[in-house]
Amino acid sequence: MNRLFGTNGVRGIANSDMNVNLALDLGRAIGTFFGEGELAIALDTRTSGDMLKNAVAAGVLSTGLSVSELGILPSPSLQYAVKKSAYKGGIIITASHNPPEFNGIKVIDSMGLELARKDEEKIEAHYFKRSFHTSDWRTIGGTRFDHRWAEKYVQGIIRKLDVKSIRKEGFKVVLDCANGAGYLTSPDILVRLGCEITTLNDQPDGRFPGHPSEPTPENLKDLARAVKDSNADIGVAHDGDADRTIFVDENGRFVDGDKSLALVAMFILGGKKGTVVTPVSSSSCVEDVVRKSGGQILYSKVGAPIVARTMLEKKAVFGGEGNGGMIFPEHQYCRDGAMTAGKMIEILAKSGESLSHLISRLPEYHLHKMSVSCPDDRKEKALALMEKSVASKKVDKTDGLKMYGESEWVLVRPSGTEPIVRIYAEAKDKRRAQELAEENARILKDVVKKVS
Ligand code: MG
Repeated sequence: MNRLFGTNGVRGIANSDMNVNLALDLGRAIGTFFGEGELAIALDTRTSGDMLKNAVAAGVLSTGLSVSELGILPSPSLQYAVKKSAYKGGIIITASHNPPEFNGIKVIDSMGLELARKDEEKIEAHYFKRSFHTSDWRTIGGTRFDHRWAEKYVQGIIRKLDVKSIRKEGFKVVLDCANGAGYLTSPDILVRLGCEITTLNDQPDGRFPGHPSEPTPENLKDLARAVKDSNADIGVAHDGDADRTIFVDENGRFVDGDKSLALVAMFILGGKKGTVVTPVSSSSCVEDVVRKSGGQILYSKVGAPIVARTMLEKKAVFGGEGNGGMIFPEHQYCRDGAMTAGKMIEILAKSGESLSHLISRLPEYHLHKMSVSCPDDRKEKALALMEKSVASKKVDKTDGLKMYGESEWVLVRPSGTEPIVRIYAEAKDKRRAQELAEENARILKDVVKKVS
């Protein structure tokens, strides 16, 4: 069976592989899968958004389901809307942090979670077999418009924060919306938290004129400068669909996503017992902090939807990825950029400390990433042989092969989308991390040759 969905929905280049025909048939497959009821649909600010939304919606309507159009929204806002109402499910037109020519289609279940893999497979089966339900003309679905969800989502987040403590501080915040969907909700949330805000790239523009929508140190130079120049307390940056948030400290320094994840985990646990879920690729910084704060770490496969589902199953108190994607179960089971920003500002208020100070106390690790080419059909054999070739005391096979050493580890993980195997090496020292990655890349190359 062919695969359509990647780690985060179906993605491709607009009007090339991600075209109206695909969107229409995918809409038909999605409608056939859900069978009845009403689906909510939203989009980010990409130029191809309307085109794909209309095609997907037409496909859904043809199966007899109704569609509720929520307009441009951050992904977590649509997920919140689906969770909070009687929608049978949801569809988001977004390619998150990808370059502007990309777009994607993501499907949400009735609880607001990204669809489980087994359900994506059912949609893929309808799509590839072209087994679509086609409604009788009397029961073709209709569209309605519901633009109340930006406001409801803002209120939902405000209710989950200690507004009184935050308002007292009157924080100065610089917010970078990356010309994405976050412009609609995040400025509003920060203002209601009593923050004095300066915004960057807060005009919706799917060509991303401000900077590429991935919140990397390179792309956040303007934000860093603005924080420093305006003597702000914190800089907040979203990716294109605002499900992730990366921070800049009061000195204009980029805060690594693993560290902000560890910091939030520390405050949520606060000495209480509880499980924190993160993918095997996350820094040991998170595990160290969780253990020290009285909690327990649970590693999942890579991919935010899997982290969210594992959190739900294991009743975790918190979870997330090292790329700024955090999940707060008392709010909802998906990454939420605005909630992440609000929580971090609440931490600043409650601790009475600066962000740089809080971050400076976290353990320091260095990650080095590499990749080795390997044909898809040899990945499994290569990994099995790799495990035999490397004598490691502790091995974790949750996702790929993670081999632990003394205060260091290497993760060898086949890519799901490209003919490569990725190597992540982490150590206390930058040079050691690189050495470890290179050493394992050499072994892996030999292994790939042997299984070819
Ligand atoms: Mg995103």
